[in-house]
Amino acid sequence: MTSRGRTKKEKQPFEPGLIPAPGHLLVWRDSRHFDHWQALPCTLCGQPTPMRSHSEEPVHKACAEDWITANPVEARLGRFASDLAPKPKSESKGQGDHV
Ligand SMILES: [Zn+2]
Repeated sequence: MTSRGRTKKEKQPFEPGLIPAPGHLLVWRDSRHFDHWQALPCTLCGQPTPMRSHSEEPVHKACAEDWITANPVEARLGRFASDLAPKPKSESKGQGDHV
């Protein structure tokens, strides 16, 4: 259990939320998971993907889910996580998406 992987990047505004249980799906609704400019080889399968993890690792969402299922222990360290749950509000939409 050595989890000293707390490297600080200059920018890390993209906070991950919960780590899904093995076999469950990631919730990647945030547009930051999608790189509109380029596809990079997925770190898991090597195929190009516009998808990014919270740490900006190029990875297919489905590949990340498979990886969590295949590596449940390592997954707990938070390599891939779902988005943070939106704040509980009576209405869940209508938040302006400023750039
Ligand atoms: Zn992949």
